[in-house]
Amino acid sequence: MGYRKRLPVVDLTDRRALVRWRPAADSVIAEAERLKEAALLDFGLTESAVGSWLFSKCRHQIATTAVDTAAVVASGDGTCLLLFNPDFFAGIGLDGVKFVLFHEARHLVHRHLFVEQDLRDDPVFTLAAEVVINHVATVRLGRGLPALDGKPIGIDPAAVHAKYVEDLTTHGLVPLEYQDFVDTDMTVYTELKRMRNPPVPAPVCVHLTHEIQLDQETVDAVVSSALLNSLLAARRGNGNAESELLDLMGRTEDVAGKVWGNLGAGALRGTTSRTGKVDWWQRWLVDVLGSKLREGERLVYPKKRGALLAVLGHDPMLSRRGPVRDKVLVIAYDTSGSMPSSVVKWMTDLVGGIDGVQAHWLAFDGVVMPFRPGEPVLGGGGTSFQAVVDHVEGRSAVAGRHFEERPDAVIMLTDGFAPHVTPAEPDKWIWLITEGGDDWPDHHTPPMACHRVRPVTGRSR
Ligand SMILES: [Zn+2]
Repeated sequence: MGYRKRLPVVDLTDRRALVRWRPAADSVIAEAERLKEAALLDFGLTESAVGSWLFSKCRHQIATTAVDTAAVVASGDGTCLLLFNPDFFAGIGLDGVKFVLFHEARHLVHRHLFVEQDLRDDPVFTLAAEVVINHVATVRLGRGLPALDGKPIGIDPAAVHAKYVEDLTTHGLVPLEYQDFVDTDMTVYTELKRMRNPPVPAPVCVHLTHEIQLDQETVDAVVSSALLNSLLAARRGNGNAESELLDLMGRTEDVAGKVWGNLGAGALRGTTSRTGKVDWWQRWLVDVLGSKLREGERLVYPKKRGALLAVLGHDPMLSRRGPVRDKVLVIAYDTSGSMPSSVVKWMTDLVGGIDGVQAHWLAFDGVVMPFRPGEPVLGGGGTSFQAVVDHVEGRSAVAGRHFEERPDAVIMLTDGFAPHVTPAEPDKWIWLITEGGDDWPDHHTPPMACHRVRPVTGRSR
């Protein structure tokens, strides 16, 4: 395909203009929609938890001939749009659509993980990313490059490797075997740099993202949430999510270790992040939350039924997850203590990024008060954990209302200094104790999940 750096024909955030722009035939649009839904359903069922979560966060998914292939763009209101050309999707078929969507999702993840501008601006790194993404897509999806009208689209990792071998051998250097070459993003990049003439990335990416200015903050929020949810799914026993994340971590950790650490991904491996910069209570909390919010049983529809639901227009995420009720999470914040505001902010971001969770925030000292993260709270005298227990267990009202949910987990942010309590369901309680505080819940009878926290520094997720 030609590489044309050109302005989009319509404003890519204007949904109506996108739909109106030279629409393809209705039958083509319907076919492209069907292929897109089927692809996302397969992602959700087996092939890519990350892709599934990521596209579920593109609230609007629009067939439009205003783009040549497919692209995710920030819509300007903090959400993302998925745009796809219906003729292109219908032309490359289901396997092709999966490849393109997987490729696109990986690009967004890369933009999130590889924050160094020097790397991003280097065309050789762009090519390295294409090589790795297409290699991973080929392995994960079990298919080669998509083809349109019989012609393969995109960068062929094996062809790039062959050129690299030729270049190095010609200049008396020893090249890596293909498997070692594609080991991580950085090996591909480093090895391509050894070439006398590193190939200039031919413009054969299957999508447009390189050409579009993205609102990085929105992309970061969407990708971070997709990774976090995949991580929680992995911790809840979803083996596909786990294998995908472990592979992604293995390929990117040299450069992106901090992002993984901040996500608490170390728990997946049972090791700490190599950079070691992140307080491990954050990883501990993600891990504990993952297990407390565990599904009673995994609800996965048989493939046939899922495909049927997709044809009927159901959200592929819903059909993947089944009719599971939202998990109820209570976060209670001790205003009499000295909880650093960065910890509250980190918790807010973390909880806000978890899908399928209904969060209830409370503040307490001697009494329980409604609390909205970000708003100042006034601490008063005395501290009573029992006040929180009584409210959460439905025995006392806050602002005139009783708590009517049954929580799946209760997180207490506190210094721990108050009379000890024994909640009715102690296994649901998670205590985060400030430095210098009293971690009595750890050795209480029965013991409860408990960890000391330290202020969060730097980029928090
Ligand atoms: Zn690409």
